[in-house]
Amino acid sequence: MPNLTHNNFSQETLALHAGYTYDSQRTLSVPIYQNTAYSFESLQQAAARFGLQELGNIYSRLTNPTTDVLGARLAAIEGGAFGVPTASGSAAIFYTLVNLAQNGDNIAFSNKIYGGTQTLLVHTLKRFGIEARIFDIDDIDNTLEKVIDSKTKAIFFESLSNPQIAIADTEKITKIAKAHGIVSVCDNTVATAFLHKPFDFGVDVAVYSLSKYVNGQGSALGGAVIERNGLNELIKDNPRYPAFNTPDESYHGLVYASLPLPIFSIRLITEWLRNIGATLSPQNAWIILQGLETLELRIQKHSANALEVAKFLESHPKVKSVNYPALSSNPYHHLVSKYFANNQCSGLISFESESFEAAQKICNALELFAIVANIGDSKSLIIHPASTTHSQLSQKELDLAGITPATIRLSIGLESPLDLISDLKQALEK
Ligand SMILES: *Cc1c(COP(=O)(O)O)cnc(C)c1O
Repeated sequence: MPNLTHNNFSQETLALHAGYTYDSQRTLSVPIYQNTAYSFESLQQAAARFGLQELGNIYSRLTNPTTDVLGARLAAIEGGAFGVPTASGSAAIFYTLVNLAQNGDNIAFSNKIYGGTQTLLVHTLKRFGIEARIFDIDDIDNTLEKVIDSKTKAIFFESLSNPQIAIADTEKITKIAKAHGIVSVCDNTVATAFLHKPFDFGVDVAVYSLSKYVNGQGSALGGAVIERNGLNELIKDNPRYPAFNTPDESYHGLVYASLPLPIFSIRLITEWLRNIGATLSPQNAWIILQGLETLELRIQKHSANALEVAKFLESHPKVKSVNYPALSSNPYHHLVSKYFANNQCSGLISFESESFEAAQKICNALELFAIVANIGDSKSLIIHPASTTHSQLSQKELDLAGITPATIRLSIGLESPLDLISDLKQALEK
């Protein structure tokens, strides 16, 4: 199991050092343990590891020293108790939700989230007998409690949503979650832990796609689940969460709540990684560790560039509206200083062009921006959500998600903002 201890260093220091203890070779770069299995010292040790009496490596589907450094480092940056890397962000979200809910249960989710996640929640979870109930992130007071009942096992939302760039009023959500004893889950992919820290506002579990800003160069998929300190107290003896409080037949009758460990993460590993296996590879864990070292610098540059581009777009007559929370015109602007460090809001901008045809023309006329269904790359990207990332959504779902045929999403990279602005200008005016 990963090293659970971390200390009081600041986030940027932890991003470089946390979670890694030298082995005998003292390599400064975290070694890649490119192995599937581990040699036990004795059969007795093997039995103790399988029975969870002794924590330690068994097989890389469950734990691996390289991947464990990443998990511990992410948990340290987040100020959390434990971090579990997964093969992708989607796997992180799926495992988190099935760790809490099962057949007959339901979860509440925000209307403004990533299209892939919406499809996972509404359609895939339904096949497992889990119902996803939508609430309005812009009207939390009147919509969230209405969908909650005794079978509600999680409240899921995005801190800074992709692609609507909506900011969640997290404290409103977590107050309701706490009142009902429900685990709140925040996807913090777009903001990253350097702009927003979900646990400071009462969130229980943070999930990430590491494929975006954390990797930062579009070179490896990855995800992570991080639980806050003290989550055990919420889950233990809570009638909503029988899987943690009753004997697990698949694990020698183990009751997770009896373990002196972060039980949400331990069960995520021993039930979901062990039995389904969307484990992050050590190679990709290493690549993502490289990204993490410069994340703080990059997210600041992405944010500064995006603010300049957003100001330009706002001033252009062929742009109907611009969504970027750091602009004072933005409806979420009042939440920025409360929830985001340095009033910075990442590289994600969306804007309304004049029509579907105009959106197509702009996408095709840009030279610097690549048409890519991704965000958080060092290079600037553009996408038309209605025909790509959100094409699986019905018209009603698109309306609820605030996406029109004229919506364009930009992921602003690390290029010179002047070059980006001149490229956008020529494409808009073509
Ligand atoms: C991309 C993304 C995901 C899915 O992550 P993958 O690593 O691509 O599986 C989840 N949430 C958000 C906000 C994303 O942008």
